[in-house]
Amino acid sequence: MSKPISNKGKGKNKKKATPDPVLLGFPDGSIDPEQDSDAYSTKIGGVPVWLQSGFAPPAEYLKCGICRQSMYLLFQGYVPLANSIYHRVIYVWACNRRLCMRKEGSFTVVRSHLVDPEYLAAHRKKEEEKRKKEQLKLEQQKKAAQPFGAFQLGDLWGSNTPSFSQAASNAITTSEHDDKSTDTDTLTTTLEKMTLDTQSPSLQEQSQQEIPIVSFPGEYLWITEEDLNNYDAMGIDMERYREYIDMQNTLLEASSEDTTEEGTWGGEAYEKQQLPRGVDKQFKKFAERVQLQPNQCVRYQWGGIPLLYHQLQGHQQQSIRSLGGNCSQCGSSRTFELQLMPNILSLLPTSEYASAELSENNKKKDVNSWDIGMEFGTILVFVCEKDCHPVDIEQPSYVKEHVLVQFEQD
Ligand SMILES: [Zn+2]
Ligand SMILES: [Zn+2]
Repeated sequence: MSKPISNKGKGKNKKKATPDPVLLGFPDGSIDPEQDSDAYSTKIGGVPVWLQSGFAPPAEYLKCGICRQSMYLLFQGYVPLANSIYHRVIYVWACNRRLCMRKEGSFTVVRSHLVDPEYLAAHRKKEEEKRKKEQLKLEQQKKAAQPFGAFQLGDLWGSNTPSFSQAASNAITTSEHDDKSTDTDTLTTTLEKMTLDTQSPSLQEQSQQEIPIVSFPGEYLWITEEDLNNYDAMGIDMERYREYIDMQNTLLEASSEDTTEEGTWGGEAYEKQQLPRGVDKQFKKFAERVQLQPNQCVRYQWGGIPLLYHQLQGHQQQSIRSLGGNCSQCGSSRTFELQLMPNILSLLPTSEYASAELSENNKKKDVNSWDIGMEFGTILVFVCEKDCHPVDIEQPSYVKEHVLVQFEQD
């Protein structure tokens, strides 16, 4: 059950002719609440499980920006990137109040890292080898530059004496290596803690307890590649769809190079002049088909193109690439990574939970009878394309990323 969405072994170069296939997540059985303690599982609902037990994100991240109440976990996905030394999890939360929908702050996405001791060790070994090689090269260059006649006895020692900076860097490397020997133990202990130890609150856990944790029943997700051949059987013209995707890619490339009015996503010019005849209709049909598929909960494609619920409007009428904005930590562009599909709303008891909460509150004050929980058409998640780690390498990190929610239109 705890398989990663993406594969660490898989190459994921940014500039590639063909992007990775879209991965889809389908429901794969409910999670026993007693067993809902695996940070490496990919699921909808349930409780958030942190990569390092007891090290939670700021409580603020889990509160709705509108009503200040606790939000519900919608999605947790184990999504390590290729060639990264970090375990990586994406969490998506949402407020379950209809009144908070369609307002900024009622959905949150957080990206979390925890260094993998084995990958870190390998990474450091590589760095060390690189450093040694460079040092050797430098020494050889020095020797070559030194006329033999000028060689004196003392130089035998002198040339081997490391410079101050070399000594310093040696010292740092050495102390890091000393720490390393206990890393594996630490991870094992952490893993044990994840399943066994839910007590022993740390500072973070205490701050966490300031807001009540609310959760839906959890459901594992099963991840598989999108099978485009299926769509042929459904009578969707895949050739036209691919044509459409190719055109989108061309537009993306163009818009990343210059940001002129031309080629903006969903803009008038785009729709009326650049869209091959009949393709927009075809794409609409495609989107409808995807929605008709009963099980699709998540679509994953690092750096890919989201499947829009509707054309972008107003201030969103810009290139997809700039939709995610910039990383709050390192300033890099954000890239599309995944999107949550409306089928999640039929799997999680959002309305039941909302009306249960309502009937409790009803005694106190008037409430809108139409407030029946959260809604969304699709939730698009954009993340830092550098996958930055803003704290010390050995510390777990939490970075708030960008979420764009599309709703049903009136
Ligand atoms: Zn709210
Ligand atoms: Zn960043």
